[in-house]
Amino acid sequence: MNLAVQILIALVLGAIVGIILNITSPALFEKLDSFLFSPLGTIFLNLIKMLIVPLVFFSISVGVANIGDPKKLGRIGAKTMIFFLITTAIAIIIGITLALIFKPGEAGTFKTDGLSYEATKAPPASETLLGIIPANPIEAMASGAMLQIIFFALFIGLGLSFLGEKTASVQRFFEQANELMMFLVTLVMKVAPFGTFGLIASAVGSQGWSALKAMLLYMVVVLAALAVHFFVIYGGAIKLLAKRNPLQVWKAYIPALTVAFSTSSSSATLPVGMEIAQKKLGVPKSISSFVQPLGATINMDGTAIMQGVATIFIAQVFGVELTLPQMAMVVLTAVLASIGTAAVPGAGLIMLAMVLESVGLPVEGIALIIGVDRLLDMTRTMANSTGDLTCALYVTESEKNKGVTFNDKDVADSSSQV
Ligand code: ASP
Repeated sequence: MNLAVQILIALVLGAIVGIILNITSPALFEKLDSFLFSPLGTIFLNLIKMLIVPLVFFSISVGVANIGDPKKLGRIGAKTMIFFLITTAIAIIIGITLALIFKPGEAGTFKTDGLSYEATKAPPASETLLGIIPANPIEAMASGAMLQIIFFALFIGLGLSFLGEKTASVQRFFEQANELMMFLVTLVMKVAPFGTFGLIASAVGSQGWSALKAMLLYMVVVLAALAVHFFVIYGGAIKLLAKRNPLQVWKAYIPALTVAFSTSSSSATLPVGMEIAQKKLGVPKSISSFVQPLGATINMDGTAIMQGVATIFIAQVFGVELTLPQMAMVVLTAVLASIGTAAVPGAGLIMLAMVLESVGLPVEGIALIIGVDRLLDMTRTMANSTGDLTCALYVTESEKNKGVTFNDKDVADSSSQV
């Protein structure tokens, strides 16, 4: 049986077991969760996390070194950033529009007094920008500071491409290290069905249904906006910009989607996402290893959608009417907030405070949506990761149109290309 099917079965089984235990025996659930479900999930998650830092470092260095020509690198970089920014802005606008139409904040009575939420202060933008340069790259790797690791890897890649022959053996070493990491990803994915089962059973079993019911319309609006963005915007981009068949692309991407869903982390999804892009979808390694790690770190359309809907929802609950300029402010800050969001579970909710503060809405409103955020986090992470893949497919197609050819070393296995 192929891996995608196995993971899907594990996902459904996990959900069923979680629901049954949640309804029939919460006490038994707690025991099973601490001895079985959570450990299974944690083993899988840690195995993936173990690979993220070396994979991102080696793959970006090698990707940039292989792109070589600084002009080409600039062109690919610009296309990638423009694609990321435009799709994120569209995502927020879809979220805001649906929230204004369906008014989830007016669907019931929400108790707002006594709400409390401690917002962690977002650092000023200037600090984040300066912080991208790692004073100590080893420390950056040890603490998993992705933007800093990416910056260092870009530098190494540029250096390798400038020095060419002189550092040929270092480049070869990096290429082999990258190859090794990708191989380990394939190996780790073999336990994905067990990990998925554990993660889903644990998540579903611990969610009380009453919390979900009151927030149903909010959840439906977020899910609808995610679906519109996924099928219409990504589907359109894959068809029109990348000239591929969206259904075939999504089908190939199912293993990555299930990992995104069960781990709620774009960075945990990155290794398998890159593997599929390179081995199944014919994205050249140099493009995949530049676009996808960068995207996993800064491109989060699903998160942006949640932030758009949540802002309107909270405004409605507190009876605040947002003006058009204020909504423009929401779009702007949500783009920034989604860039600043770490690719780990629940991070998008923390950054929501920044969006709310920008238009003077009470951050305590976040307490209303915390209860249902886990489920939405799982779904929006699928969109986050698919956005990066879509961009990689688009850049590949547009570089081909420029007459750029990719050598065999750069293309993993074009025979299985969709
Ligand atoms: N969990 C999301 C991700 O990793 C981020 C978020 O929205 O919380 O992509």
